[in-house]
Amino acid sequence: MIQKVKGTMDILPSETPLWRYIENIMREEAEKYGYGEIRTPTFENTELFVRGVGDTTDVVQKEMYTFVDRDEDRSISLRPEGTASVARAIIENGKCSDPMPLKFYYIISCFRHEKPQAGRSREFFQFGTEMFGSYSPAADATAIALANSVIRRVGLKNVKLHINSIGCKECRPKYRGALVSYFNSRADKLCDTCKSRLDKNPLRLLDCKNPDCAEGAKGAPKTVDHLCESCEKNFKLLCSALDAMNIEYVIDPSIVRGLDYYTGAVFEFIAEGIGAQSTVCGGGRYDGLVSSIGGPELPGIGFGMGITRLILAMREAGLDNIEAAKPRLYIAAMGEAALVKGLAITERLRREGFYAECDVVGRSLKAQMKYANKIGAGYTLIIGDSEIESGKAQLRNMENGEQTEVELDSFSL
Ligand code: ATP
Ligand code: MG
Repeated sequence: MIQKVKGTMDILPSETPLWRYIENIMREEAEKYGYGEIRTPTFENTELFVRGVGDTTDVVQKEMYTFVDRDEDRSISLRPEGTASVARAIIENGKCSDPMPLKFYYIISCFRHEKPQAGRSREFFQFGTEMFGSYSPAADATAIALANSVIRRVGLKNVKLHINSIGCKECRPKYRGALVSYFNSRADKLCDTCKSRLDKNPLRLLDCKNPDCAEGAKGAPKTVDHLCESCEKNFKLLCSALDAMNIEYVIDPSIVRGLDYYTGAVFEFIAEGIGAQSTVCGGGRYDGLVSSIGGPELPGIGFGMGITRLILAMREAGLDNIEAAKPRLYIAAMGEAALVKGLAITERLRREGFYAECDVVGRSLKAQMKYANKIGAGYTLIIGDSEIESGKAQLRNMENGEQTEVELDSFSL
């Protein structure tokens, strides 16, 4: 028996209605905010992620699914996230000189070789959005408002918005110095990963999940205390915009995001009660990304929302009960002629737009009726030789038991 690859999942028809319900909300909300859907390839040249996501990140160093393409001798990677591909696509398709802003959304699967656990898989599903071409905190506020509206519309209440600003290329180097000297003074208390990250990517030490590191991070210098004038002004404006839009948040200095391209405002929506993988959505500003992969200076702001984690949070809150569609009609047939008639009627009704079913496995009449009940058919119709002869049958409303005589060749629902 060949099994699925570790860290992947099968999503069965009993669960897809919930997925589709969520995805429809994502699409509808994104379009209300003026984002258009973009579809980019599942795999890209590895170089795109090395430059776009950053070669000091875990994602690029340890987690990418990378292989050499058969005939071209090129290194290819399955996308570990969506932003770099969208940035590449707008450059490649000449969109950087279009009227700004540019707004895109996507619902995609991403691939990361991580340790599978609840809320963490190797192929995972993400709703992502990107807005390019604005330095204004109004853009940050719009992106956050969109993520917020999806989370509220699926009914989640125990999800909190955490925001922070990690500064720009003006203020980050100074802050970085303060951070490195703080952690150097307590280097003996750091986990091995943090020790090795201290020089390369010290910001990441702030969101290490190791309890000793997390304790140490609490006393660390805060990015928000080291912002340059313009970053500080932008962050304040973002906070007032969120206040004005009635979007609750907490300022959380531990939010730094994992990918190298982030600058300025960063945020996460964190769910209570779903365990360690509690960030259902993470995002922020990435003003350096487009230029780092060969495009013009074009600022950006976006987020990725993990659909599996959203479902975990919805499950925890009892919001996951979305049922599959039920047939409007089930036709039970006795005998071959009736079976053919049943097929003809269901086909006619389907062409009229109804969800109709008839027996295709040759069950007894009793078993067919039991099955109709089980699948929750709204109406049933029994056809045998006498019904075919008269051209009429009894249409039974399964909810109240009422029966109506109908003409087999012309009735509708
Ligand atoms: P985490 O801190 O949980 O590792 P991340 O910072 O690596 O997340 P992003 O790259 O920002 O995550 O991805 C955006 C969102 O996608 C996350 O907030 C999360 O909801 C989801 N996500 C990321 N990695 C996984 C995964 N391996 N399995 C399931 N969902 C994931
Ligand atoms: Mg991660």
